[in-house]
Amino acid sequence: MQNAQILFPVNVPGAFDYAVPIGMELSVGDFVYAPIGKQMKLGVVIGLGTAEVGRELKAIAERKATRPLSPDMVKFVLWTAKYNVASPGQVLRMVIRSYKALDPSPIVNHYLPTGETLRQLTSSRRAVLREGGPFPARASEIASRAGVSAGVVKGLVKIGAMQELAMPVDAPFPVPDPEHPGMALTQGQEDAAKELAAQVKMGGFSVSLLDGVTGSGKTEVYFEAVAEALRQGGQVLVLVPEIALTQAGLERFAKRFGAEPAAWHSAIGDAPRRRVWREVAQGRAKLVVGARSALYLPFADLKLIVVDEEHDTSYKQEEGVIYNARDMSVVRAKLSGHAVVLASATPSLESLHNARSGRFAHIVLPERPGAAVLPEIGLVDLKETPAEKGDFLSAPLIDAIREGLSRGEQSMLYLNRRGYAPLIICRSCGEKLKSPDTDSWLVEHRASGRAMCHLTGFSMRMPTQCPKCKADDSLTAVGPGVERVAEEAARHFPEAKIEIFSSDTAGNPAAIKDRMDRMARGEIDILVGTQMVVKGHNFLNLTFVGVVDGDLALAGGDPRAGERTYQTLVQVAGRAGRAKKAGHALIQTHQPEHEALLALAAGDRELFIGVELAMREMLGLPPFGKLAAIIIWGPDRAKTEALAKKMVSLAPRTDGVEILGPSEPPVGRLRGQYRRRLFIQAESTVNLSRYMAVWRQKIRPPAKYKVQIDIDPQSF
Ligand code: ADP
Repeated sequence: MQNAQILFPVNVPGAFDYAVPIGMELSVGDFVYAPIGKQMKLGVVIGLGTAEVGRELKAIAERKATRPLSPDMVKFVLWTAKYNVASPGQVLRMVIRSYKALDPSPIVNHYLPTGETLRQLTSSRRAVLREGGPFPARASEIASRAGVSAGVVKGLVKIGAMQELAMPVDAPFPVPDPEHPGMALTQGQEDAAKELAAQVKMGGFSVSLLDGVTGSGKTEVYFEAVAEALRQGGQVLVLVPEIALTQAGLERFAKRFGAEPAAWHSAIGDAPRRRVWREVAQGRAKLVVGARSALYLPFADLKLIVVDEEHDTSYKQEEGVIYNARDMSVVRAKLSGHAVVLASATPSLESLHNARSGRFAHIVLPERPGAAVLPEIGLVDLKETPAEKGDFLSAPLIDAIREGLSRGEQSMLYLNRRGYAPLIICRSCGEKLKSPDTDSWLVEHRASGRAMCHLTGFSMRMPTQCPKCKADDSLTAVGPGVERVAEEAARHFPEAKIEIFSSDTAGNPAAIKDRMDRMARGEIDILVGTQMVVKGHNFLNLTFVGVVDGDLALAGGDPRAGERTYQTLVQVAGRAGRAKKAGHALIQTHQPEHEALLALAAGDRELFIGVELAMREMLGLPPFGKLAAIIIWGPDRAKTEALAKKMVSLAPRTDGVEILGPSEPPVGRLRGQYRRRLFIQAESTVNLSRYMAVWRQKIRPPAKYKVQIDIDPQSF
């Protein structure tokens, strides 16, 4: 008797055994329906066997004709779960996000009903026939136009008034052409491109770190690796940070390959999402550009993954299954035996360490093409050169903008803070306005007249009275946000065209593109922006970047703060001087002696990396040791703390593992839930995932309490 292990897309510890009915041919990766309790559920075969299980098994009900997951994909699901200490069913759920993708609504044609059929027409059936029109169409669409359920269409098919057509339900994606002419590459770019393409051509698993300064043409270079994989008939996945997934970004692909790629991100609608899923599963969508979750699309024949801006923190998924898409890309490639390219101007220390120790190929692009040069970066020591009282822009920034304006060039001011002011305080009683259920200050948004919590989205009309002492007009804005910086810039340069670019002002993709186009055409003189301006834009006339608060990301004592600051500021400064005109950047700081800022000003990345790696090695932190975190959530402060302490007492004892905490994370209460955190530091020889899994099993959090495991946490 053959049996099969079926994994269901639910959060339970593992798979279930079922009997395979006589005559049913099954392979690993097949989609099946099998009974759970009284329900039929969709699952995936992850193993087959003939051994006696020792008890009567229920039988699989149906094997779906849908193309199965590739065996590599099944392995990848199980590996992801094991490494990240998640349940495999939860990972499978990410892969088959929408069951409907597996059961597409059929295309139907319709006939003029006659005789017997005519008598069976109810009013809803008539409505469907009226809406059906002369051409074949998707059953679900006709039903929704007629305002009836899809079952009505099925009924019409049954009585012969409509017919299901065996047509592909999806319009195919245009096929990208690797030979479509691209940009003429410089010698340095050409060499790098050849090296990457050679890795793809050779086949087998490889990881290359494409380490090129901002504006060096990394995209043009990795396009050649993409072209090689396409020539081999394989599929290619390019991961980009969600925020960079703009129309302009996709158009670059279209230019190089003569066809726009399939895009995958959080804002695509349900129908396009299902189309991408199915076309990827069929192996027909050859080039997919997507945000991190695209890694869990069911590729039939993946040949290359590119992770652009590999250092970006948005590759880490922090909810549900907690995983890092950059690291999991490397795993996916290893399981399937193909190439990965990690690209960045500011690679993560982990990737640099791997490149230096020879685990990754290291491909370097040290300069910008043609006449473009890297911007000079200077520091403004705010202790010596403060802004005017109550202001936030120091004289050197104002002078630089003025010079730019006089030459007809553009400037950008960067501050990663939305709104007008990060803190609202009462001058009368000292009260600070706080989010109602979260440890976070309310941010004043003057443009919309509201006070908002950026963590939860809570928002209220800006009060005119202190909620505590009831004093009128006593609430004061403290500190700068982009709105306030723009206001200050307008005071200095009343003639200039100033615009704010943040998620509050960005609008939909079309509006973003419009604004970026206007910036590119020179219709904006000064752009004041949050991190939204950091990525993916090339403004040829932008020659000055001013960083309003270079210390912002350094606060809080996170050992990765230096790395983040260095990366962000290199990227921000890198927006300047992308064409013939040289650019420069100035960073306002209270800590000009911090090694991240010193290295920035000296243009000496080695200086920063040296100091940073030495510190990590001394502390046994990644990449020299392993790290995990546990976050404990609960509705009661004391009980959450007690649960955290209990976790510590239940920790398995092993050499080479140290447990730190419990402590309160930077946000101790979020949406009414209290949080405590533990850090687990281990020597690199320890199998930390296994250790965490053993520990996790010992604790069953009471109802309403949650224990979350985070392998390789991004902030400490
Ligand atoms: P990166 O990703 O390294 O920041 P991009 O690939 O976005 O760099 O390239 C930066 C800009 O330089 C883009 O506008 C690109 O079109 C242009 N560029 C890159 N390589 C060349 C080249 N060989 N000739 C002309 N322009 C180039």
